Amino acid sequence: METMELIKIHDQGILKPKLNNKDLIVHERAVAVSKRYLKSESELIASLIEIDQNKICYKLGYSSLTDYARRVLKLSDDTAQNFVTVARKAFLVPELKVAIDEGSLTVSKARKLAPVINPSNQAHWLELAKSSTQKNIEKEVAKVQPMAAVVEQAKYVSGDTLKVTSAFSEKVYKMLKHVQDLESRKAKKNLSINDTLDTVLSGYLAQNDRLERAERQEEKVKNDAPSPDIRLKTEHSRQTETQEDIPFQRSSIPTQLKRQVIHRDKDKCQHQYYDGSICENQRFIEIHHKIPISHGGQNQIQNLITLCSGHHKAQHMNS
Ligand SMILES: [Zn+2]
Ligand SMILES: [Zn+2]
Repeated sequence: METMELIKIHDQGILKPKLNNKDLIVHERAVAVSKRYLKSESELIASLIEIDQNKICYKLGYSSLTDYARRVLKLSDDTAQNFVTVARKAFLVPELKVAIDEGSLTVSKARKLAPVINPSNQAHWLELAKSSTQKNIEKEVAKVQPMAAVVEQAKYVSGDTLKVTSAFSEKVYKMLKHVQDLESRKAKKNLSINDTLDTVLSGYLAQNDRLERAERQEEKVKNDAPSPDIRLKTEHSRQTETQEDIPFQRSSIPTQLKRQVIHRDKDKCQHQYYDGSICENQRFIEIHHKIPISHGGQNQIQNLITLCSGHHKAQHMNS
């Protein structure tokens, strides 16, 4: 089949291959392997959809489908992200799945369509993708969704300097320039965007980072430590926090205790994988009772641990 294609192209005078028999075998093998590779891609998409639908990644103790794809399937961060995005889209847009299964659409092309394709426009986008190069698909997607055209990335250019690429709306960019002006005025010198973000973000973190706040408070408690029994009394009379950010919580954890847990666990997910590594996710952190209150567990520091929402979900699914 591959040999015939080659001859056909040759007949048209487009390509004049000078392949000996050995070259031809090597070439045919590459074509066959690539065919299998593309078939595997579509099978992997189908598997990911099943894993996702049956929540198998959580049952196995992983924080998300991407986490599972990275750690268990050994995909690189980017590849894991791309396959998960395409798998979820293929589940919602059946024609997309069919096109991948038939081999008329590669996963990398499907990834480019993911931000814009939906069940009502699928025919249009699939038709376009089949007859377009990757670059053309990118261009067409950018017309509809300009922000999706810029892939966010950060690359090291020297020891501690990164070149960051990101899409900004005009509104955000204008605000950034405005803040740069205000901060330059305050500092009485011209600040770069990096200097501006340094000032603004440091201020933001001092206000909003729970770990920084917990560290400051712990330091304060240590410095003006009253006698032990007075301290105990103060802790108990302290106001307890709302349950908003601890969805699985049945009884409120006293603020001081919550702060101690965050401080001890560095406000990172402490889930330990089978290989001994720790998740350390810093987003969507929740506090979990190792022994649930319903099983006699207490609001005590030894019974509490910080987990990311994915691992928290996994914990509760498996207990
Ligand atoms: Zn929990
Ligand atoms: Zn986690």
